Amino acid sequence: MADKVIIKDGKAEVSDNPIVLFIEGDGIGPDIWKASQRVLDSAVEIAYGGKKKIEWQEILAGEKAFDQTGEWLPQKTIDDIKEYSLAIKGPLTTPVGGGIRSLNVALRQIFDLFACVRPVKWYQGVPSPMKRPDKFDITLFRENTEDVYAGFDFESGSEEANKIIELVNSFNLEKQLRDLSGIGIKPISKMGSQRLIKSAIDYAIKKGLKKVHLIHKGNIMKYTEGSFRDWGYELVKEKYADKVITEEEIWDGAEAGDKIVLGNRIADSAFQQLLLRPDEYQVLATMNLNGDFLSDAAAAQVGGLGIAPGANIGYEQAIFEATHGTAPKYAGLDKVNPGSVILSGVMMLEFMGWDEAASLIEKALEKAIEKKTVTYDFERQMEGATLLKCSEFGQAIVDNMSLVAAV
Ligand code: NAP
Repeated sequence: MADKVIIKDGKAEVSDNPIVLFIEGDGIGPDIWKASQRVLDSAVEIAYGGKKKIEWQEILAGEKAFDQTGEWLPQKTIDDIKEYSLAIKGPLTTPVGGGIRSLNVALRQIFDLFACVRPVKWYQGVPSPMKRPDKFDITLFRENTEDVYAGFDFESGSEEANKIIELVNSFNLEKQLRDLSGIGIKPISKMGSQRLIKSAIDYAIKKGLKKVHLIHKGNIMKYTEGSFRDWGYELVKEKYADKVITEEEIWDGAEAGDKIVLGNRIADSAFQQLLLRPDEYQVLATMNLNGDFLSDAAAAQVGGLGIAPGANIGYEQAIFEATHGTAPKYAGLDKVNPGSVILSGVMMLEFMGWDEAASLIEKALEKAIEKKTVTYDFERQMEGATLLKCSEFGQAIVDNMSLVAAV
């Protein structure tokens, strides 16, 4: 009998035979999912000698859901995620027109999956534009529910925009808003900021990491971006005084000892620092928009979106997902790199506490790259590589498991 996973306060309680939901995804999704499921199942089987096993249960979303039910995100899917808590998904097409802006954003909002977690690290042999990609090993925590995701955008000349312009200009501040401006509202709350920053700090504690940085543009937007930083420092002072020290205290002569060091960087400076001195950073906490830019830029340094995993974690549900889209031109060609979903699966296994299986996959994937047996996206950038299909790359990882497990 398989069991439901329970997630409490962002932490999973998992039996040896848990039910995990999957959304295959649109476009390249089915190819990638098939390869990924095989890798995940083989790793669990090998790591635990058959004592643990995931019971996969499919839920529908995207084009497959629309074709079968007439809805892009059926209520049953929402009910199942609520009940079974843990899911992994391939990419989904954003329906053009209709009420849903993006299914991915909808899922994050429905389940309040406030932490978008993206580990970005380089695997030996992956083609990279950087001289020293090995210096990159950073996990980004991007806030998923506020900022531009929860903001409002009012069109130039609309009644709402005109009213807001009139209201703001009535404050008689130093500046006046121009007539016919489009207006965007960017909300950042204390609760939203602190719960995200708390996740980042707890992650650093769990992983034994020593640095957490808050990324913001507080020099310009003092009461949104600046407050994000201030609320982070306040949280640390109130709840983590025994575990975290600030960079500023160290500059004043305090010793870090075993404590995690909390710092902050202006977003534009963070971009150049990640290019020039990435090894000075370990965990970054960002608001939504900065995190969006920063996570893709970071992924580009270590091999691109084809192997960039992600997770969206809330208090009671978690959804792990590929960070790339449906790449429709490659749909059904068994061609693309399944690495993004496979590594999202690695994150999911770690979240479940199944670290042995997670580590086995990482090592086997690294071995496949080391042997230069790769999909087209890497093959075109590597000298003397063997071109594999999506399914063949998955199989290569499975084949490597016995090699790396024996080491
Ligand atoms: P995309 O699907 O990510 O594809 C853009 C390009 O990225 C591809 O043409 C390919 O580049 C490369 N790529 C993506 N996935 C790859 C993989 N697994 N292996 C190797 N290369 C890969 O972006 P898009 O074309 O802008 O978006 C298409 C659809 O996906 C849209 O409907 C969009 O809304 C949706 N989308 C969904 C998600 C999600 O579900 N999380 C995220 C983003 C976009 P080359 O052709 O240069 O090889």
